[in-house]
Amino acid sequence: MEVWFTEDQTKHLRIGCRVREVLFSGQSPFQKVAVLDTVEFGRMLTLDNVIQTNIKDEFVYHEMITHVGLNTHPNPKKVLVIGGGDGGAVREIVKHKGIEKVVHVEIDQMVIDVAKKFFPELSSGFEDPRVEILVDDGIKHVKENKGVYDMIIVDSTDPVGPAVGLFGEEFYRSVFDALTEDGLFVAQTESPFFNSSLITQVTTTISGIYPLNRLFWAVVPTYPGGYWTFTMGSKKHDPLTVELNQGKIAALKTKWYSPEVHRSAFVLQPFVKELLPHK
Ligand code: SAM
Repeated sequence: MEVWFTEDQTKHLRIGCRVREVLFSGQSPFQKVAVLDTVEFGRMLTLDNVIQTNIKDEFVYHEMITHVGLNTHPNPKKVLVIGGGDGGAVREIVKHKGIEKVVHVEIDQMVIDVAKKFFPELSSGFEDPRVEILVDDGIKHVKENKGVYDMIIVDSTDPVGPAVGLFGEEFYRSVFDALTEDGLFVAQTESPFFNSSLITQVTTTISGIYPLNRLFWAVVPTYPGGYWTFTMGSKKHDPLTVELNQGKIAALKTKWYSPEVHRSAFVLQPFVKELLPHK
């Protein structure tokens, strides 16, 4: 019998993947965690039946949520990752030799355990001695740490459940305070086709807090619409004018991110520009 996983991406849109085997299914205090072996995407992590990541397309999202910011800041040393329990973001950050410390705050221990067991390709960075893993609420962590991080990455689930607060004004203010004086943050900010109001809301909110805000995008086939956005709030450095170090970027051995992609990711189509209050 054929087994299919189906995600309701909106009330009226579904994505389906044929499943070879359900490798893990469990209920944590926060969400339903599952690992599927899919025919098209290989192993796939779902939380509350929403696709988080998979072996085939994960590199796009993880390279873009990390390297754009890490190459905008001239000398990032201390980085915080909120969420991202699969480890993909941490794996990309530790490729940067200048990084001295990565603090990874994931609320759900089960996601970390599952990543270690079923996604060694993603979670390999957890073994790096510069990485400290804290099982805690990222909202609480940024409130308690001031002026510490050069970059903060918000690698969250969609804005439901424990992630709701990760898209609010209070949180972006705490992130501002947790950053060093020339720090910056990057957050995943959903689809302009199916969650356009969130993009407008986040940009509007952070433009009252950060001197500089920028939206950029990439293609993630398993996310609603396939077109995904990220938002950067920066105290000083501008990803549009930064001089990119070609040699340093080549050494990262990326599959999606490159100096050209860094530039082109900020080229927004007219319908996306219209979502931004100031463009
Ligand atoms: N890297 C993934 C991808 O490729 O799409 C993104 C999803 S990652 C698995 C999202 C993580 O955010 C989940 O593991 C979830 O437990 C975590 N999370 C949600 N709310 C959180 C919070 N308030 N603090 C820390 N982690 C949170």
